[in-house]
Amino acid sequence: MNEAKISHEDAINELLKEDGGVYSWYFIDLRVPIRSKKKIAICSACGESFVQDENEIICKWCNDQKFYNF
Ligand SMILES: [Zn+2]
Repeated sequence: MNEAKISHEDAINELLKEDGGVYSWYFIDLRVPIRSKKKIAICSACGESFVQDENEIICKWCNDQKFYNF
């Protein structure tokens, strides 16, 4: 067992030199939801500003209302 004291930086350098041999690793299929940048739009129904998720022209509140109005 190697008990020589080495500094943290030396240890990191050793690990880096191993070039992946020390740690096993693998690719994982991680799906990162692509979030479009937040856009502020003016609701064409109520005139209030709201955060657009996609390209809606009315705010969520008005969008909800239409389900009740008809
Ligand atoms: Zn609205």
